[in-house]
Amino acid sequence: MNILVTGGAGFIGANLCRELVSRPNTGKVIALDDLSTGSAANLAGTDVELVEGSILDSGLLDSVVPAMDAVVHLAARPSVPRSLADPVASHHVNATGTVTVLEACRRAGVHVVAASSSSVYGATAVLPKHEDLATRPLSPYAASKLATEAYVLAYGASFGLPTLAFRFFNVYGPLQPAGHAYAAVVPAFIDAMLRGTPVRIFGDGLQSRDFTYVGTVVRVLADAVMRKVSCDRPVNLAFGTRVSVLDLARELMDITGLPADIRHEQPRAGDVRDSQAADGLLRELFPGIAQVPLEEGLAKTVTWF
Ligand code: NAD
Repeated sequence: MNILVTGGAGFIGANLCRELVSRPNTGKVIALDDLSTGSAANLAGTDVELVEGSILDSGLLDSVVPAMDAVVHLAARPSVPRSLADPVASHHVNATGTVTVLEACRRAGVHVVAASSSSVYGATAVLPKHEDLATRPLSPYAASKLATEAYVLAYGASFGLPTLAFRFFNVYGPLQPAGHAYAAVVPAFIDAMLRGTPVRIFGDGLQSRDFTYVGTVVRVLADAVMRKVSCDRPVNLAFGTRVSVLDLARELMDITGLPADIRHEQPRAGDVRDSQAADGLLRELFPGIAQVPLEEGLAKTVTWF
């Protein structure tokens, strides 16, 4: 199987490319990435071919996609705060970029697996979040990811294209960068603890997240591609293990053996309060899937740092 991973030089994308090339029945693995947040170094030493360019370039997509058996579409402008700073840029990449990728896949008749986000649930307070709940985005990022999944499902319905849209929750693990303004919470906390700088918590720290180890996520993605799984509904990719941000900090203190200088700051606009996935549909489509437990995944992540 030849597989194109858009955003393949990013955190989840590079972990996926590494997983795919390690599997015996994989042919060519191509990462298409504009390196805006990803890095060629994430693919160093692998057999993955990096094509540097944008998903907004339909000519470039047409030069690659027809030789593929599947496309995993992960390229995006991630992060809620980044979308607050420039909503149009997020829309451009996440919404228009997705339609551009889908058009190339439709022309070539290629299976598409794409990344949406738990942020689409937004202000919906029900826990756990199941896929039939109403979506109420709280940020331009969430709105743009809702557009991502809506287009993916619409291409399945309109053109009979085999498609699957996953809602990722908080994915963490090796290759996730720290040390920049938009860093995710796990690498930001580990980085601060190792450097002895303040651990910044936005709000009281009792907001909760459903953390998923990247190794688990890429195994599901690879399995979806190999078995050509499609679905006419979005599918949560998390397991309902909800942890508060304060408990995450405590867990990381235990693992690193280092103290944390916790500083509470103002809650951030656009952030949801609680997040926890219902995993029934995921388990129906991927029976037997087991997740790496949080303590084990965090320990592996700290070791990678
Ligand atoms: P990331 O920033 O590491 O990866 C995104 C990749 O897309 C980067 O390599 C970036 O350079 C690339 N990219 C951006 N714009 C592009 C463009 N126009 N053309 C080509 N490449 C482009 O982020 P990630 O955490 O690996 O996220 C991967 C996907 O998962 C994204 O779609 C994101 O919205 C989604 N997601 C991630 C999480 C998470 O917890 N990490 C949660 C929910 C959803």
